[in-house]
Amino acid sequence: MAQATKTKGSTSTQSLLHAAISASGTKLIEQIRHLVEIESPSDDKAAVDRCADAVAETTTGIGGRVVRHRQRGFGDVLELRFGFSAKGGGGCAPLMLLGHLDTVWPLGTLTDMPFRIAKGRAWGPGVLDMKAGVAMGLTALAALSETEALDRPVIFLLNGDEEVGSTVSRAITEKLARECAAVFVLEPAQGPGGAYKTARKGVGGYTVRVKGVAAHAGVDFERGHSAIHELAWQLEKVRGFTELDRRLTVNAGVIRGGTRTNVIAAEAEAEVDVRIARAKDAARIDRKFRSLRVRDRGCVLHVEGGMNRPPMERSRATVALFRRAATFAAQIGFELGEASTGGGSDGNFTAALGVATLDGMGAVGEGAHASHESVVLKDLVPRTTLLAEMIRTS
Ligand SMILES: [Zn+2]
Repeated sequence: MAQATKTKGSTSTQSLLHAAISASGTKLIEQIRHLVEIESPSDDKAAVDRCADAVAETTTGIGGRVVRHRQRGFGDVLELRFGFSAKGGGGCAPLMLLGHLDTVWPLGTLTDMPFRIAKGRAWGPGVLDMKAGVAMGLTALAALSETEALDRPVIFLLNGDEEVGSTVSRAITEKLARECAAVFVLEPAQGPGGAYKTARKGVGGYTVRVKGVAAHAGVDFERGHSAIHELAWQLEKVRGFTELDRRLTVNAGVIRGGTRTNVIAAEAEAEVDVRIARAKDAARIDRKFRSLRVRDRGCVLHVEGGMNRPPMERSRATVALFRRAATFAAQIGFELGEASTGGGSDGNFTAALGVATLDGMGAVGEGAHASHESVVLKDLVPRTTLLAEMIRTS
């Protein structure tokens, strides 16, 4: 893979690469601004596609090839291919960079939350999660080609439905990831220290629905069967499913039911979020939900749901990637921490396939999905340099 004059440890290639990224610092911030200013809520295909158009244009400009997986209901999935030329990549499995273009912010958010630079940060909807990460990936790849340091194929995969569960992109992500040597996820780094993530919890959801029998609460009390009281009883059982020592948690986050105080409720339902740290707990928690039995026999209980994202477990291969990254970070001049998180990403899918996956390789900042969403400017260049080093030496 690496040529004799350009071995993996070559300090000259390394310093050329670092210089190229430092020189593109201003351009990187401009690119982040450009992407943030193309609003792209997951539920608006046309908007997400406009963002994809911009990324496709940049990709072509830096020598990448764009494969567009067209979608009906969501934004198109972009497969950006770099280093697949005759020169590089022969027989070498590609590396995957993984991210998403959609955000949780509706169109028009920019009016109240415009892109701005202040207090050493860039602010705006989706800037941290994860448009800065996308711009960092493109900048790293541009610098690698510019300095002729890219001697392996890279697939940069970007979808438009991550924030709503990746239902359409999951199959594409999994298919391509199976062919890849490793996956680098450009989601935000963890916390103010910007740790990389080597483990993520799996995420699932269940709906517990009760049908009761309506009756007048004053006149016909004994003929009624309250869906609300039945659901409340079921939720007490569900609460008991949490096992903190296994890092398995259950949370009824949404509840609905009933019509008026003087009516015994005919219907009630709750939406329950489930987080698991170990893949084998998926079956365990599913069994528990399926074993719920109605207490008031005048009611009917219905449970549906399951796991959406399997957990990303802290595998040996992932830890090896992290250790290499920490060594490079020290050379670049910062200390890289390791973290796990309860939140899921598309890295959960690739890790569950057994492909070494390192996550949190995007920007450092705070306030993802919140009005103070921002990225720290001074971390952009060192983090992008680290990303480029990891691509170069993988
Ligand atoms: Zn994200």
